Amino acid sequence: MSTRTTPLADPLDLIDLAAVLTDEERDIQATVATFLADRVRPHLAEWFENAHFARELAPEMGALGLLGMHLDGYGCAGTNAVSYGLACLELEAADSGFRSFVSVQGSLAMYSIHRWGSEEQKQEWLPRLAAGTAIGCFGLTEPDFGSNPAGMRTRAVRDGGDWILNGSKMWITNGGIADVATVWADTDEGVRGFLVPRGTPGFSTRDIRQKMSLRASVTSELHLADVRLPAEARLPGAAGLRGPLSCLNEARFGILFGAVGAGRDSLQAALRYADSRVQFDRPISGFQLTQRKLADMAVALGNSALLAVHLGRLKDGGRLRPEQVSVGKLNNVREALTIARECRTILGANGISLEYSPIRHANNLESVLTYEGTSEIHTLVIGQALTGQAAYR
Ligand code: FAD
Repeated sequence: MSTRTTPLADPLDLIDLAAVLTDEERDIQATVATFLADRVRPHLAEWFENAHFARELAPEMGALGLLGMHLDGYGCAGTNAVSYGLACLELEAADSGFRSFVSVQGSLAMYSIHRWGSEEQKQEWLPRLAAGTAIGCFGLTEPDFGSNPAGMRTRAVRDGGDWILNGSKMWITNGGIADVATVWADTDEGVRGFLVPRGTPGFSTRDIRQKMSLRASVTSELHLADVRLPAEARLPGAAGLRGPLSCLNEARFGILFGAVGAGRDSLQAALRYADSRVQFDRPISGFQLTQRKLADMAVALGNSALLAVHLGRLKDGGRLRPEQVSVGKLNNVREALTIARECRTILGANGISLEYSPIRHANNLESVLTYEGTSEIHTLVIGQALTGQAAYR
């Protein structure tokens, strides 16, 4: 015979993560959660089904300080890294598409300008990008070069004082809606970054359709055919692959928090469902096999959340190393995907419906596992840190 006791008031925070956060960090997290509950969550199933990105919410996200949140000046909020991470956690608890939008806007497009741009480029683009009145994208991946961007074929050659760009980029988040694209191209001096405004002659985009993942997010191809840019369009500080890789490291930091959110939201759906679904005359939450799944997921989620906050504290202390970001991205995305799939099983047939979030999160996390460095590449980055040997080359 089973005995019922009162479950935890907040079963989603078994380890009391809130205890290691400051009041300000908790407030920021709560503000983002409220915005998403009001403006985003009620529409997510429809947006995912119809492959719609709610672009009109960009200025609202800007007003909340979510865009370029951890950057200083130029209208950016200038929060600490942990607060930015917690915002990403809440965004991805809603949908990875919203976290992707914020990551690409803030950590790829804006960060590339903030870190490597001229003062004129910063003044021209950052305030609008922070406000969400302009949208940015980041073009590194090409059809034939994903994990190995060093092989890129997009070329920029000098023509008098100008640059002429030719090539194409693939799988670019926000590409079709971007007002400005940070495009990475090979030159006689190595890889360089360029700001390509929408409407520049020879620059076109095409959205990628029939995605089964990140459907509430725009993903596009960028085409550059004899695109002429003035010398001032080049990001003056970026030389070599270090330029784009520094931006990716920033974006991965948001992902390692975001994945915790997708896992948490899946677990919440499974807990609720397991409590109300009755089979063999009892809630399925009372079966040992269901409880084993729930317990394993709660433990994995707590570990991921602690790892994220720990890495955030290292970042705030200026001590976060790239291989540590790989540890977080590899572990937290892998765990979140396992959790989302496991939660789907608890929901039985209902688990394949968009009425419940786990299958949407699982599908989204398939992209998250691949972009910003695949799980295999992050494994090999950690392997290199441990052995001194780069097995991926
Ligand atoms: P590949 O590099 O071809 O890899 C295929 C498989 O081979 C993977 O399993 C990989 O791990 C494995 N592999 C490759 N090399 C090795 C190795 N040395 N050792 C072991 N295994 C290896 N890119 C951008 O530039 N900007 C964006 O905004 C952007 N947004 C994206 C949005 C979505 C929804 C998706 C799906 C992708 C996005 N990307 C973006 C692209 C993403 O970064 C790439 O897909 C990723 O880098 C992997 O490249 P690839 O798809 O070409 O796979």
